[in-house]
Amino acid sequence: MNYFNNYRCTRCGQEYEPDRVKYLCPVCSKDYQPGMPLPGILECVFDYARIAIAWQEFCIAFPSANPSQKIEELCELFSPLNKEYYPNLPVGNTPLICSQSLVGESLYLKFDGVNPSGSYKDRASNLVVAEAKRLGIKEIVTASTGNAAASLAALCAAAGIKAVIFAPAKAPPAKLVQIKIHKAELHLVEGTYDDAFAAALAYSATHECLNRNTAYHPFTIEGKKTGGLELYAQLGVVPDYIFVPTGDGVILCGIAKAFYDLKEAGIADRLPILVAAQSESSDAITSYWETGVYKDAAKPQTVADSISVKTPSAAHLALKVLKDTKGMGIRVSDEEILSAQKMLASRTGIFCEPSSAATLAAYFQAREHALIKDQAIVVLMLTGHGLKDINAVKFDD
Ligand SMILES: [Zn+2]
Repeated sequence: MNYFNNYRCTRCGQEYEPDRVKYLCPVCSKDYQPGMPLPGILECVFDYARIAIAWQEFCIAFPSANPSQKIEELCELFSPLNKEYYPNLPVGNTPLICSQSLVGESLYLKFDGVNPSGSYKDRASNLVVAEAKRLGIKEIVTASTGNAAASLAALCAAAGIKAVIFAPAKAPPAKLVQIKIHKAELHLVEGTYDDAFAAALAYSATHECLNRNTAYHPFTIEGKKTGGLELYAQLGVVPDYIFVPTGDGVILCGIAKAFYDLKEAGIADRLPILVAAQSESSDAITSYWETGVYKDAAKPQTVADSISVKTPSAAHLALKVLKDTKGMGIRVSDEEILSAQKMLASRTGIFCEPSSAATLAAYFQAREHALIKDQAIVVLMLTGHGLKDINAVKFDD
């Protein structure tokens, strides 16, 4: 039993029945070529009226439900798939830590490094693997800078499905180890994430498999939505600001989708302000937001490999999200990222990836420029574990 009604194109608005389409809007993606942002990303539309009733019934039946119980209920109500298909490896329900040790006032840290493969990407892999199980498909392919691949490898292992990975040869060694230990088929691509993305598309065009490329399969956004639903359940209110490490823009779009859905069902009354924290060399979404004109990042080269992207797959949707939520893009340098990473590790006990630390660096900039309202509830999404990329960490002594 679930409340998933149909897909809707985020560009032209055309609606499609489930199972009639698989990836992008067939109309909008006609002229798509690898190397450009994805046109016509599909979103899942639910029966929001029935979800509203079901949520009301839950709240009446369990007036003192704890955040974990609320998370379970919300994630089930807003899932396009029944739980029976989920791989046997629990994902999500990650801690939200209220820290006062960073800036002297409350700052919420959502730490997704505790997921099975150590990153937020498990949320997307979980749902795509579940979809493969529903369809009886035995193989899933993806492109990745490392985290999505390590994640898909782990969740496929849990479900007995073959994972085929296209990753840049220069992906951090720990992530390549994860891919190999879970027995995924690894193809190293000389070049960037964007080259790996194209290689994975070419593979799925000629093989009987499901493609998990981020944003290409609509369930990647749905999976990444669960982090937003959790924030709402854990805080009991819509946060004022959510800082998201942003490369291809899909986590940003996923978190926004949670609040679009909650609002549509009348559960939440507003959207949070979303902030895209980007590396200054991988800033295509921030530039797009500033100028309104899309342009690839000229030369992405950052210590935060998880957000190093030349052509963000979800650039168009991410721009819509920033506009809808009155959000913003903020660029941070590698130096700011590494210093924020050390500060988080030494003052909160959380060792996160450089890309995750970009959120704290962006938060400092936002404070400095008075872009944050006083007394605001601010959440930083820390999406990956620091042990995934220890070579990035440098010590002075
Ligand atoms: Zn369309």
